[in-house]
Amino acid sequence: MKSSVISGQISNYNNISSYNDFKDDNKNYILIVEDNKINKAILSKILSVYYNVVSAENGKVALQILRSGNFSFSAIMLDLIMPVMDGFTFLHEISLFDEFKSIPIIVTTGNDDRENEKKALELGAWDFVSKPYDAQIILFRLKNAIDRSQLTAFSRLKYLAEFDSLTGICNKEHFLYEVSKLVKSEKPGSFIFVRFDIYRFQLINAFFGIHEGDLLLKYIATFLSDFVKSFTSSICGRMNADVFAFCIPFSDESAVVDMVKHIKKMLKAYPLNFDIVPTFGIYLISDLSVQPDIMLDRAALAAKSIKGNYMVNYAFYNDKMRQEITTEQEITNEMNKALEDHQFTVYFQPKYDLKTRIPCGAEALVRWIHPVKGCVSPGTFIPVFERNGFVTKLDYYVWESVCIAIRKWLDCGKLVHPVSVNVSRVNLYNKDLIRQLCELTDKYNVPKELINLEITESAYTESPEILQQMTEKLKNCGFVIMMDDFGSGYSSLNILKDIDVDVLKIDMRFLSDTHRQQRSENIISSVVGMAKSLGISTIAEGVERKEQADFLASIGCDCVQGFYFARPMPIEQYEPYAEDIAL
Ligand code: C2E
Ligand code: MG
Ligand code: MG
Repeated sequence: MKSSVISGQISNYNNISSYNDFKDDNKNYILIVEDNKINKAILSKILSVYYNVVSAENGKVALQILRSGNFSFSAIMLDLIMPVMDGFTFLHEISLFDEFKSIPIIVTTGNDDRENEKKALELGAWDFVSKPYDAQIILFRLKNAIDRSQLTAFSRLKYLAEFDSLTGICNKEHFLYEVSKLVKSEKPGSFIFVRFDIYRFQLINAFFGIHEGDLLLKYIATFLSDFVKSFTSSICGRMNADVFAFCIPFSDESAVVDMVKHIKKMLKAYPLNFDIVPTFGIYLISDLSVQPDIMLDRAALAAKSIKGNYMVNYAFYNDKMRQEITTEQEITNEMNKALEDHQFTVYFQPKYDLKTRIPCGAEALVRWIHPVKGCVSPGTFIPVFERNGFVTKLDYYVWESVCIAIRKWLDCGKLVHPVSVNVSRVNLYNKDLIRQLCELTDKYNVPKELINLEITESAYTESPEILQQMTEKLKNCGFVIMMDDFGSGYSSLNILKDIDVDVLKIDMRFLSDTHRQQRSENIISSVVGMAKSLGISTIAEGVERKEQADFLASIGCDCVQGFYFARPMPIEQYEPYAEDIAL
C-alpha cells in the first residue's frame, strides 16, 4: 500500500503555539489526499504537530487506505485535481460507503476556485481551505469539522440506542423507559400495556422473503405510531422480530375490543397473500410498582395463553398465569431429585381385544408420587418436561422400568402381553433414541415385539420428515409403532400416506360431542375401514361406556383401552392381566 505515516513535532511553523489545547497523547489520524509533493509536505508539517498524518497520492489510493481498515481517520484533507482518481470522483465513491459518512472531508482548493468549491460542497465536502495554506485557518477549520462530526456521531449513536433501526419507532429499552415515565404519576388501572405479534410471522419470511417481512414490519410500525397518537398520552415500540408493544389509556374492555378490531383491519388491508393474524397479550397496569419489563413478561404470558387459537385474538393477564409459571419453576427445580429418589412410578392400563374382550396388552403411563402433593398425573408435568428437555430422561426411566417388569414376568415363565410406552415428540430429535431403546431391550433380554412405541400424532405436524425417518428405523429394529392420539391433529390423512405405522390409536375423547354422535361414528368407522385396507390395526382409547365398546366392535376395531374396561393401575394390580392366558 502506498501510504506513509508522518508524525512529528514541528515547533516553528507559522506561530502555531496557540493551538496547544489541541494536543492529545492519542493523536487523531488525518488522511491527506494530494498528488503535489510540495503541498503535501506543507500540509503534513502543519498537521503533524497535532495529528498523525497519513497521505495518499490520489483518490484511488485513499479509498484503498480507508477500506483497509488499518486507520480510523478523524478527517480527510482532499485535493481536487489529481491523476488516476480526482477529488470529485473520490467524493462520489466515498459517499457509497455508510461507514465513512461521518468522516469530515475538507477540500483544498486554489484561490478563487469558486466553481470547484461549489461542486465539491454539493458532492458532500464539509468545508474547504484555499492555497496558499494558512496554518491557523487550516487547524481551526479542521478542529471545528472534527468536533462537528463527533457531535453528529454522538447523536447518531444516541438515536441508535433509542430507536429501532428498521422501523424508526422506539426500541425495547427506550420504550420500557418511556412507559415507566408515562405511568409514573397516573392512577393504577388507568393504562394498559399491550404486546402483540403476528401468528407464524416466520412463514411470511419463508414464503415471501426477508425483504417482504421487513416491509410488513415497517407498515405495522407506521400505523401503530399513528394509532397511538390518537391518545393524549401513549407510546409504542418494537421489542424484537415481529413483537410490538404499546401503552395507552384504558377505559373499558369494549375499547380494547375496538382497538383489536382496528389493528386487525389494518393488517387485513396489507397487500400480501397471507392471513396476517395478530395475537394480543394485555397487562392492565393495576400495580405501579411493577417494572415495565415485568409488564412485558406478563403481557407475553397472556398472549401465550391464546397462541394458536384462531378465534381469540386477545387475552388479559391474570395472576393464575403467574401461578402457572411458578408451578412450572417448582416442577423444574424438583425433577432431578424426584428421578433419583424414584418418585416416578409406572402405572399400567390394560388394553382389551374387542372380539374376545380379554386383555391383550397395556400402556405404561407414568405417575409422580410426590412426597407432598401425592399422586400427580402426567398432564401437569409432561408438558413442562417437554419444554425443558427432561422428558427424554423420564421416558428412558419408564422404558427401563417396563423392561425390568417384562423381564421379571418372563422369568416367572409367563407368556407376556406387549406393553406400549410413550415416546415424547422431543425424543424424535434424540440422536441416541434407537441406541438407547436397543440397549435396554438387549440389557434385559426383552424381545422387541413386546415393547410397542406410542408416538403422538402432533409430532407429525411439527416435523414430518424426522418422524418418517425415525419410525422407519425403529420398525426396522423390530419395534411396533403406534400412532397415538390419531385424529387429534390436522394431518391425520397425510400421516397414513407418509408414515408406515403398525397401529392407529384413535382417541374417543376427541369425538365426545354427543350432538354429533352420528358424524363421529361415521368418521371413526371410515378411519377403521381405511386402516384395515392399509393393513394397519386399530385401537380406540378413552372408551368409557358399553355402547362405545359395542359400536367399536361392530365396525371391526381391533382393541380398546379405557375406563370402561380398566383404569391405569400400579404394577402389582396389573400383574394378573400381564399374562397371555388366551394362548
Ligand atoms: P396418552 O398416551 O394418550 O395416554 C392415555 C391417557 O388417557 C392416559 O392419561 C389415560 O389415563 C387416559 N385414559 C385412558 N382411558 C381413559 C378413559 O376412558 N377416559 C379418560 N378420560 N381418560 C382415559 P394420563 O395417564 O393422564 O396421561 C396423559 C398423557 O401424558 C398421555 O396420553 C401421554 O401423552 C402422556 N404420558 C403419560 N405417561 C408418559 C410417559 O411415560 N412418557 C411420555 N412422554 N408421556 C407420557
Ligand atoms: Mg399414549
Ligand atoms: Mg393417546
